[in-house]
Amino acid sequence: MQDLSIYIHIPFCVRKCLYCDFLSDKPSGNGMSEYAFALINEIKQAGVYAENYNVGTVFIGGGTPSIYGHGVISDIINTLRETFENVRKGSYAPSEVTIECNPGTVDTDKLAEYKKCGVNRISLGLQSANYEELKMLGRIHRYEDWVNSVAAARKAGFDNINVDLISGLPRQSRESFSDTLRRVLEHETEHISVYSLIVEKNTPFYDMYNPDNMTDEQYDEWEREDRAIYDMTYDTLLSGGYNRYEISNYAKPGFECRHNLVYWDRGDYLGFGLGSSSMIDDIRFKNCISLKKYIDYYTQPDADAFKNLTVSPLSDKFYTNPLYEEVQKLTREEQMLEHIMLGLRKTAGIDINEFNERYETDFLKKYDRQVKKWTDAGMLVIKRGKVCCTHRGLNVSNGIIVDFI
Ligand code: SF4
Repeated sequence: MQDLSIYIHIPFCVRKCLYCDFLSDKPSGNGMSEYAFALINEIKQAGVYAENYNVGTVFIGGGTPSIYGHGVISDIINTLRETFENVRKGSYAPSEVTIECNPGTVDTDKLAEYKKCGVNRISLGLQSANYEELKMLGRIHRYEDWVNSVAAARKAGFDNINVDLISGLPRQSRESFSDTLRRVLEHETEHISVYSLIVEKNTPFYDMYNPDNMTDEQYDEWEREDRAIYDMTYDTLLSGGYNRYEISNYAKPGFECRHNLVYWDRGDYLGFGLGSSSMIDDIRFKNCISLKKYIDYYTQPDADAFKNLTVSPLSDKFYTNPLYEEVQKLTREEQMLEHIMLGLRKTAGIDINEFNERYETDFLKKYDRQVKKWTDAGMLVIKRGKVCCTHRGLNVSNGIIVDFI
């Protein structure tokens, strides 16, 4: 039996944040309840995977999963449990079940419900503790709402909480982000993710802060400050007792996000819900992104939706259906490059023996030029059978990765 991770996408938010290009929107009409019904039907057909896989981790993300009222998230998780248990007649005990919540959308009853149905990790999007910055991002909450949500989650018994932050906002100073970190550290969450802002096209944020409209001086200043914040974040979180285990992710010992590690280790994962991505047996595929199409398909009588699921000629472990898009079987070369791209993001790096066995190759021979170039430059290091970026290397990892590609 292999491990399988499951991602469940909830594409609804109270309102769209100004910088967001994720697949999420304000719900309308009966959209949320129809979607939940469709999602549950989609999960039911995943029983076919239970013959080969154990569910290792579950991540309910979005969007804002906590937008749903009482009872819906437990229905979804219970369906997952029943689907896998009934088919395998075994136990269903994923080691980590995370739900993303936004401050202002959780309360004690919802948190108690999550706890009862097996959720054991809460991820709370704060982004910034500064009121003006939250307003600039178009977030629906204030810092105080996040503090209340953390307190409520602790009270409900959660001992594994993540906070998401965004650094490098326009006009953000070191002092302001340092203040955000100080206020977050007071609450001793087990995990902190700090992502650098990417100004995405097709967002209101892009129209307001399009880097192309900046003078060279303004852009250089923004980049300089972003870099300084990045270094300051590393120093602050390390002295706060966190380990950096991936470029943007810090955890107290033992609280690394297992679900994300599956992605970075190129494990198998199955996505349910609108636009969710999956990888089974080195086949990558994606669910459709049309809400109407998704709901129409999965709310047809069960038998129809189920009979359309067929074993793909690409692999006997991969079942396809008419809603899957962008189905791609990765070549051996693509698998190796993806492994390097993801592996070098982790501070633990790439296990050379494991790489060689998995892809039947000789890493050091195949990438001799790149390894020599970047180890000589002090950006890569080989230790205890692993190749990983040094601290300086992680800061320029994109350049190193591109050289391998
Ligand atoms: S809460 Fe998250 S997913 Fe929803 S609009 Fe804001 S950034 Fe996007």
